[in-house]
Amino acid sequence: MRDDEHDEDAGEAEITADTEATVRCPYCSEEVEITLDPDSGEAQEYVEDCAVCCQPWQVTVHYDLEGRAEVTATALDG
Ligand SMILES: [Zn+2]
Repeated sequence: MRDDEHDEDAGEAEITADTEATVRCPYCSEEVEITLDPDSGEAQEYVEDCAVCCQPWQVTVHYDLEGRAEVTATALDG
């Protein structure tokens, strides 16, 4: 009898996804730290207000395979 069961432990290394990112506000040009939610998926898009000038950003978050978040904030125009 053969035991074809594979040990798949390799590749399950735990990655730590970024939970914070710094973006530059498109309105006031301040660098603002924002909190991310890795559980919401590897690609996210939402609206968040600038903590400095209160203008709304369109925030785009993209996680890569290593859990690094690429975050952009752009002006939310009409
Ligand atoms: Zn701002």
